[in-house]
Amino acid sequence: MREIDKPKVYLVAKTALVTEGLNAYLADIGAPDWGIDPDVSDGENLIEAAGRMCYRSWQPYDPNKPEATNPNVDRVRKGNKEYIGNVLKSGHGSIIEHVNLTFICRNVSRVFTHELVRHRAGMAYSQESLRYVRLDDLSFWFPEAACDNRQAKQKFEDVVHFLEGSQKELAEIFDFENIHDFATKKQLTSMFRRLAPIGLGTSIMVTGNLRAWRHIIAMRTSEHAEVAK
Ligand SMILES: Cc1cc2nc3c(=O)[nH]c(=O)nc-3n(C[C@H](O)[C@H](O)[C@H](O)COP(=O)(O)OP(=O)(O)OC[C@H]3O[C@@H](n4cnc5c(N)ncnc54)[C@H](O)[C@@H]3O)c2cc1C
Repeated sequence: MREIDKPKVYLVAKTALVTEGLNAYLADIGAPDWGIDPDVSDGENLIEAAGRMCYRSWQPYDPNKPEATNPNVDRVRKGNKEYIGNVLKSGHGSIIEHVNLTFICRNVSRVFTHELVRHRAGMAYSQESLRYVRLDDLSFWFPEAACDNRQAKQKFEDVVHFLEGSQKELAEIFDFENIHDFATKKQLTSMFRRLAPIGLGTSIMVTGNLRAWRHIIAMRTSEHAEVAK
């Protein structure tokens, strides 16, 4: 058994602007007086571009730029921070869906992954398969409250050891090491995992758009939510 000190989260991908493409579009609509802000992220620039495209609000109306401006617009908000701040305040969240962040969560429990995958809208998941990956070496994070209580910690350790031992015993019962047919191995691994603890450490890759992430963070930081480990 490996005791997990801290689950880890790695940011592995994020939305990138194709600057040439955006600039080509802006040139084609008549070169409005607007440009990418070099001091903010690609994602933030993309959100602003999405919003300004919707209302043709790159700049105040200019009759010489009919495709880039709008006679209804006589002034515009300046600056990315102010622009996005106003979008969030007004609750028009759809433009922030253009930006995605991908994380790998490592050494998190199946409790955590099960709660995470309940969030469906705007999310994509790839989870370590416990039908393929055999659990002969369980990793486990011990909740703080259990660690603070000697008897409780001992109970946790005993049960995890017992369940890990059961995985090994089952492998022996089925003479696993001499099975070479992959379908049979998968079938047995799938069966063994039913005796694994829900708190075992595992990995999940998750991609979400920013709107979805904001929703998840709001829900899962509620005082009633379980610790995300
Ligand atoms: C503190 C806490 C306790 C919980 N306890 C339980 C529990 O006891 N039992 C249990 O089963 N679950 C429980 N949950 C999970 C919860 O019910 C949700 O399933 C989970 O949080 C996913 O959130 P979501 O429904 O907002 O889905 P998301 O996929 O994150 O969706 C985001 C939003 O999109 C909209 N949406 C998504 N899908 C649909 C759809 N099909 N139709 C219409 N609108 C949609 C909704 O407005 C939704 O809020 C708990 C969650 C928390 C935070």
